[in-house]
Amino acid sequence: MAYSYEAPVSQTLFDRASLVTPGGVNSPVRAFRAVGGTPRFMVSGTGPYLTDADGREYVDLVCSWGPMILGHSHPSVIEAVQSAVARGTSFGTPGEGEVALAEEIVARIEPVEQVRLVSSGTEATMSAIRLARGFTGRAKVVKFAGCYHGHVDALLAAAGSGVATFGLPDTPGVTGAQAGDTIVLPYNDLQAVREAFRAHPGEIACVITEASPGNMGVVPPRPGFNEGLKAACAENGALYISDEVMTGFRTSRAGWYGVDGVAPDLMTFGKVMGGGFPAAAFGGRQDVMAHLAPAGPVYQAGTLSGNPVATAAGLAQLRLLDEAAYEKINAVSAQIQSLVTDSLFKEGVAHRLQSASNMFSVFFTGSEVTNYEDAKKQESFRFTAFFHSMLSQGVYLPPSAFESWFVSTAHDERAIERIAAALPAAARAAAEATEVSA
Ligand SMILES: *Cc1c(COP(=O)(O)O)cnc(C)c1O
Repeated sequence: MAYSYEAPVSQTLFDRASLVTPGGVNSPVRAFRAVGGTPRFMVSGTGPYLTDADGREYVDLVCSWGPMILGHSHPSVIEAVQSAVARGTSFGTPGEGEVALAEEIVARIEPVEQVRLVSSGTEATMSAIRLARGFTGRAKVVKFAGCYHGHVDALLAAAGSGVATFGLPDTPGVTGAQAGDTIVLPYNDLQAVREAFRAHPGEIACVITEASPGNMGVVPPRPGFNEGLKAACAENGALYISDEVMTGFRTSRAGWYGVDGVAPDLMTFGKVMGGGFPAAAFGGRQDVMAHLAPAGPVYQAGTLSGNPVATAAGLAQLRLLDEAAYEKINAVSAQIQSLVTDSLFKEGVAHRLQSASNMFSVFFTGSEVTNYEDAKKQESFRFTAFFHSMLSQGVYLPPSAFESWFVSTAHDERAIERIAAALPAAARAAAEATEVSA
């Protein structure tokens, strides 16, 4: 094993897990397959720190892949959850918490006139696609290579995230019929979108895109790209769906919409809005949402949708996310970004640090990354060496070169100093890495 520093308790847990769970994990990218070594089993989190089963503390730059935007165990969120739990965990009836969370979302994000709560981002995009097809009476869906929208059958074609990490072109289990109505185009290529509309007149129900992609690493839309998508959809009677599961309530108070101001027909949310619980949503134009059951004919449902504990956590978190909170997160992010890029420059490592508001990632390549093809050209083996050096020094990065890094309001000077102290050795490891050693 190239990475032999000790994690004996995690190793034992991973061995146990691997007997009873495929690959030992409940979501593939947690398994460290892209970087090698033993995944760390975490037992607790406080502020910007995670503690693993071996008792080692890490500065967390994953933040549960985005949701923990106030840091771990934020007292107000914990208190809201405890008080909700004490009243009961699920009623199978409507409740005030879900109304309040929906009101908060509608108040923050102008294009969202109505919203339906679900339990995962996957459910949100799956339901939004179904609604778009039901509303337009059309079958085809346009998506972009490298954009991940959850593990929806029709959208697991050239998806990013875990699929990008493993380089799977597609996945067994998705039939030709399920993916057959999906048109995959290169990201940031408006010409390709216009050609698709020309080639399939009256057949395209919607274009779905990550508002600003973070699942192939951070690859922001070129200026005018989202506007162009919106215009192409409007001209051709298709819906423009902006997937803000990652960017929503993270890149600003109103997510990426708050940054670029391009109003979609439908939007999807998850991650931050659940405060660490399974809560997600899709919403948008009232006339489109009116097609959903029981108001309309497009069926969609969920036993635990709008769960009182999850909505209490989400609402407590959103209420703390004011302008000052985003200023703090953006400042912390900028500080870490410049530390990372300085350390890599010092060691002469070719890289691109790309950001979208406070989301960022490092590509080990000399050229700009504007789409998935560019992203795949990076020298991932350098990331592997960089990742393990940081991990051994107590900094927890996403275990893949194709993921955004996330920070929180809890990342304070002490946490940043620990990152700064770990970077020189990690940058050196990246510089010295060779393809063979990875
Ligand atoms: C995480 C993510 C999803 C899927 O959300 P889950 O809650 O993991 O199902 C969908 N879209 C985007 C952009 C995401 O980042």
